[in-house]
Amino acid sequence: MNTNEKKKIAILGSTGSIGTQALQVIEEHADLYEAYVLTANNRVELLIEQARRFMPEAVVIANEDKYEVLRDALADLPIKVYAGAEALCQIVQERPVDVVLTAMVGFAGLRPTISAIKAGKAIALANKETLVVAGELINRLANDYHADIIPVDSEHSAIFQCLAGEVSPVEKIILTASGGPFRTFSHEQLASVTKAQALKHPNWSMGAKITIDSASMMNKGFEVIEAKWLFGVEPGQIQVVVHPQSIVHSAVQFADGAVKAQLGMPDMRVPIQYAFSYPLRLQSSFERLDLFRVGTLTFEEPDTRRFRNLALAYEALHEGGNMPCIVNAANEIVNRAFLEDRIGFLQMSDVIANTMRKTSFVKKPTYEDYLQTDAEARRIAEEYVGAC
Ligand code: NAD
Ligand code: MG
Repeated sequence: MNTNEKKKIAILGSTGSIGTQALQVIEEHADLYEAYVLTANNRVELLIEQARRFMPEAVVIANEDKYEVLRDALADLPIKVYAGAEALCQIVQERPVDVVLTAMVGFAGLRPTISAIKAGKAIALANKETLVVAGELINRLANDYHADIIPVDSEHSAIFQCLAGEVSPVEKIILTASGGPFRTFSHEQLASVTKAQALKHPNWSMGAKITIDSASMMNKGFEVIEAKWLFGVEPGQIQVVVHPQSIVHSAVQFADGAVKAQLGMPDMRVPIQYAFSYPLRLQSSFERLDLFRVGTLTFEEPDTRRFRNLALAYEALHEGGNMPCIVNAANEIVNRAFLEDRIGFLQMSDVIANTMRKTSFVKKPTYEDYLQTDAEARRIAEEYVGAC
């Protein structure tokens, strides 16, 4: 990148929770960053509003049915307008793009992330599903194409920050989890929780999918897998610790027993901004941590009997191959089914466990295997949901 120029950022999923917060960061540092590409799946009205405000070079709407509305609304502006999944993959490869923020949800993030890596772009990675599904492949490609991957997920950003300046190996990663809205619920209570309850996260305001994943603790399971691929540690070196206040964002223990943690208010703009500015830190107007106000920080062991998803994610990580891809696909199905009131909260883990058993296992998957596994596991999970 030319240092006199602004960093040009392509946001995959600019209308979502991470996407809109990234735009706030870009607005705060308009002298340093430019929203070069904005993309959305369906929310065309918000995308139009964002395009008018940030004047990107291009916008992409993944849902092709919305293309004409978008094109007509921006006809008076010099903004290129595209539609479809293929366009997402092409736009991230454009020469001027410096950073691609992957802030779209689910398996759909895999293809454009691979495209961006193959073009050697720096990846600010929010879309953890990409690493869950294909961490080994992503790491190999990032290495081959010299693409940096900077974590945006708050825990992984915390670990990344703890590792800055360290040259010695990590002994253990302490991955904190809020425990979600049902942390203290009994198994019986969990059986009857509603989506409205699950959508109320105590500390973070996020998109619907990750909010449900947080309530079911699959989000933490995914973050364990994400940590393995980002930091090259074994599953046994990752300890999940429930910390309801979400102030300690995660910690790293070294060979001498020293533990470094990163603390702060639960505000995703901090890790988003750090992913853009790394290795520098920029001024921000975000709320400061006041430890006197927080008062108490507490830590608990996670209960994998009540929150079985966490155990299933560890199991998938141990089995390796395409198993995490199977878990991700099954989870996308049950997550939606729960949001549509088609299955109960505890049934989500049952469907995932059954899908893990029934989907064809592949020890050394290729990209095509991941596509096939994803499709097969979704079909199987849908069948189990239908039988619930
Ligand atoms: P969200 O639902 O609020 O937003 C998702 C965005 O992606 C939207 O702009 C949507 O239009 C777009 N999108 C969805 N499906 C798409 C598709 N098939 N093709 C193209 N675009 C698509 O989600 P979010 O909460 O912002 O989360 C985004 C990602 O970041 C997820 O992978 C999530 O796990 C991760 N993440 C989010 C948070 C958070 O605080 N929200 C924290 C850590 C990690
Ligand atoms: Mg997180």
